[in-house]
Amino acid sequence: MTGPLLERVRANSLSLGDRPALTAGADTIRWRELWPMVQGLAARLREAGQGPVALTGSPDRVWVPAAFLACLIAGRPYLPLDPGLPLRRQRELAAGLGAQWLEEREALAGFSSGLRCRPAEVGGQLAYLLFTSGTTGAPKPVGISLNNLESFLRWASTLPGLADSAGETAVGQAAWSFDLSVADLYLALTQGGTHVALTEGEKGDYSALLRRLEACDVSLLVTTPTFLRLCLAEPAFSPQRLPGLRTVFSCGEALPPAAARRLLDRFPGCTLLNAYGPTEAACAVTAVPISRDMCGGPLPIGRAGEGAVRVTLEEGELILTGESVAPAFGGRYATGDLGYVKEGLLYWAGRKDHQLKYKGYRIEPAEIEGVLESLPGVERAAVLPRRGPGGEVRGLTAVVEGPAHTGSLRTGLARLLPPCKCPGQWVRLERIPLTPNGKCDRKRLEEMIQ
Ligand code: AMP
Repeated sequence: MTGPLLERVRANSLSLGDRPALTAGADTIRWRELWPMVQGLAARLREAGQGPVALTGSPDRVWVPAAFLACLIAGRPYLPLDPGLPLRRQRELAAGLGAQWLEEREALAGFSSGLRCRPAEVGGQLAYLLFTSGTTGAPKPVGISLNNLESFLRWASTLPGLADSAGETAVGQAAWSFDLSVADLYLALTQGGTHVALTEGEKGDYSALLRRLEACDVSLLVTTPTFLRLCLAEPAFSPQRLPGLRTVFSCGEALPPAAARRLLDRFPGCTLLNAYGPTEAACAVTAVPISRDMCGGPLPIGRAGEGAVRVTLEEGELILTGESVAPAFGGRYATGDLGYVKEGLLYWAGRKDHQLKYKGYRIEPAEIEGVLESLPGVERAAVLPRRGPGGEVRGLTAVVEGPAHTGSLRTGLARLLPPCKCPGQWVRLERIPLTPNGKCDRKRLEEMIQ
C-alpha cells in the first residue's frame, strides 16, 4: 500500500495534464511530467543504496522538490542543506550523516532515465532530515517520518483557508532547508495545485517579487512574519495586483499584531492563519485565523485542545504529544516555548532558554559561540540579540574575549555558518562579565550592547 501523500501526487500527475506542478524562476515541471520523472530518479536512488540523500536546498532550482518526491518513493530521507552555507560545509554536514550527495546532473539524468519504481512501504520510514540550530555548538539533525508528514497534512488541509483549495497556487518563501517550506510544497502537491518557489532574486527585489506573485495568481502565501512585513512595506502588494490571494499562512516566529492588522486592512477577504510549531513536529501543530479585533494585543497561535497534536502546558512550557512528533522523541516533545491559555485560545510567551528567531531563522547563540570559540585567538565568546521596540530581533552581536582580529573571525564564521548566523556587530571585551556562579552574564551584556 502506498501512503496517501504519494498516492495523491501520482493521481494528480495522471489527471492534471499540462498544468504546472512545480515552478521556480523560468522553469516549470508540468503535472503529467512529474510522476514519470520522479519515478526515474527514485529507481536510481533505490539502486544506489540506502540512507539519506543530501542536496543543496536552493529555492531557485525546480528539480529540487521533484527530487524530494523521488526520495520518498525510494524510501530514502532527503536532506536539503542551507544554500547560504559554503558548499564544502554542506558536504561536510551531509557526510557526517553518511548521506549520498545528489548533484543536479545526476538528478536530471535520473529524471529522464525512463525507469519505474514502486513507492516504498509507508510508515515509520524517515521522509526528510533537516538541520536546526543546536545548543552544543553543532547543528542538530531532526528526522521527520512519512507518518509525521501525513499527520501534518491531514490536519493542515482541514484549516480554514486551506481546505477546498484544490488546484490553486501556493507560493513558498522559505528555502528548502527550512521546515516552513513543507507546508506550501505538500499542500500544493496533494491538493493538485501549483507550487511556486520564490527565488533568491525575487525575494531581494520588490518589483520582481510582485511580478511573480501576480503572474502566478497566488492564492496561498506561506511566509514568516518577517517576510510578510517586507511584502506589506510595498504598496503594490495589494488586492488590485493580487486578486486571487485568499490565504496567508504565517509561521515560524511571533506574528506582530500591527502586521496582521495591516494585512487584514489591505486584503479584507483574506484568511490570515497564525501557525505555530517546531521542526521537531513536522512544520506546524497549531493555527488559528486572526481577525481584526484580535489585533489589539498579542496574537493567539491556536485554539486550546485543537491541533495536529495534543498541546499541554507543564510549568508554563508547551509540550507536544502525538503523531506529528519526530520518532526520535518517542511521541512527546518539550518545545522550550512558554505559553498560556486565555479564553480558549493558546498564546506563545517566549522561550525558556536563549533560543532566538532572527528573520524567521532559528538560532541557538550557543551554536555560534561554540564555533567562535573553536577559532584561534578566541578565549571566550557570547552572542546576543539586538532587539527592536517590539522585542523582535534586529540583529546579532558577537562579544569576544581574546586577541583574534574581527576580520578573520568574520571570515572563519562564514566558512562554517550560514549568513543569518553571522553577527553583524562585533564587540571586544577584556573580560566577558560573569554571574556569581561563573556563567556568562547575558543580561548585563545585553544591556551593555543595546
Ligand atoms: P523552527 O524549528 O525553525 O520551525 O522554529 C520553531 C520555533 O519557532 C518554535 O519553537 C517557536 O519558538 C517559534 N515559533 C514558531 N511559530 C511561532 C509563532 N506563530 N509564534 C511565536 N513563535 C513561533
